[in-house]
Amino acid sequence: MFGVWVPGDQAAKAEVSKLTYYGLYALQHRGQESAGIAVSDGDRIVVFKDMGLVAQVFDESVLNTLRGHIAVGHCRYSTTGSPTWENAQPTFRPTDAGGLALVHNGNLINTRELAEELPAGTLTATTDTEVLTALLCAREGGPLQAARHVLPATRGAYSLVFMDEHTLYAARDPEGIRPLVLGSLEGHGGWVVASETAGLDIVGARFVREIEPGEMIAIDADGVRSERFAEARPKGCLFEYVYLARPDTTIAGRSVQATRVEVGRRLAREHPVEADMVIPTPESGTPAAIGYAEASGIPYGQGLVKNSYVGRTFIQPSQTIRQLGIRLKLNPLREAIEGKRLVVVDDSIVRGNTQRAIVGMLRDAGAAEVHVRISSPPVAWPCFYGIDFATRAELIAGNLSVEEIRDSIGADSLGFISLDELISASHIAKDRLCRACFDGVYPIEVERSERGKHLLEAGR
Ligand code: SF4
Repeated sequence: MFGVWVPGDQAAKAEVSKLTYYGLYALQHRGQESAGIAVSDGDRIVVFKDMGLVAQVFDESVLNTLRGHIAVGHCRYSTTGSPTWENAQPTFRPTDAGGLALVHNGNLINTRELAEELPAGTLTATTDTEVLTALLCAREGGPLQAARHVLPATRGAYSLVFMDEHTLYAARDPEGIRPLVLGSLEGHGGWVVASETAGLDIVGARFVREIEPGEMIAIDADGVRSERFAEARPKGCLFEYVYLARPDTTIAGRSVQATRVEVGRRLAREHPVEADMVIPTPESGTPAAIGYAEASGIPYGQGLVKNSYVGRTFIQPSQTIRQLGIRLKLNPLREAIEGKRLVVVDDSIVRGNTQRAIVGMLRDAGAAEVHVRISSPPVAWPCFYGIDFATRAELIAGNLSVEEIRDSIGADSLGFISLDELISASHIAKDRLCRACFDGVYPIEVERSERGKHLLEAGR
């Protein structure tokens, strides 16, 4: 998510739609199914969205038609609702005063309960985001007034950026599960909100602070106004450190890259092995592989070449695409790995398909031994807060022991970092983190009726 506000007299110079485009470009790793931008010129809001990557959806001529001084943008991967145009964001609804455009990162867990407050026939799409947008438009008194009522009743993960014709708003759930940061555009006297600090960097915005859990801000000609709609109960997503966030992003004052390298060092101490070379599964395994090599003294090298133009494998929704994706994505460097005992460092094992394919590829290419090291604990529980790990039945660690997983992926040995070491490397206290996909302790209780097929299939 990305949002920008500049003073009206700076609109032509600042080109908010292009700033948003660049911001989304930097945040593309967070969602690759659809992209959209809404822009207000002070009188009306125009939305453009479509299926595809940011660079496929927008070109210069489209961006030139999106003129104004406020914009919100989004790149989506679906966790609720199917990947269709109707479910792409921003969502837009007309109101008595004009309109409201909203983007959302996260996943609500009381969508059905919230939807019951809406008159029948209100919804046109199938997402929690659509329900939230409709609720914010259903009340009189403007978005801020509506949000004061709606957000305290909203449960789950929601980092939000929304706008009417005149004001940019941002809010974060009381647990602060998904990140959201505020930056300033020094040259234009403007403000930016983004899912990650990497989204600020690309447009030259200065990091100001994180939006606090339970905080809502409004930005207009009077500056930034902040208020609380709930007490903060911080439970930031631990998986952001492992996989989701960019390495050049900073969370809670610490770079994600530094955390990942440190996790790699600890992984080497927890799961040492005699080997000739440490290689990463590029790119997300790279920082931890650097740390592993550093702490173990085993040389670091490249053994797999990644095609950078293929998206992250598990983010894509269907199993058919996912399996094809693995073959499209990585190719072994035969001359670098032939006859060598390899340590392959990856960020996580979700279904096990990627690692099984990689181990097979490396053996076919002549590796003498393949030792797999994973910079997160086994993902054994589904996520209800915005990561699509699917059902517990599909999670390999939900069903198999470490030794059984090793056997299933065909590795000579397998080691996962322990949860305590991962948490310690993040420099965040354990009770301020969500780590439910690793330990099954859900910080926001998920009603049985909201668990959908995920946990019901797992028999919980
Ligand atoms: S369950 Fe895992 S992925 Fe989901 S919010 Fe918690 S730590 Fe993050």
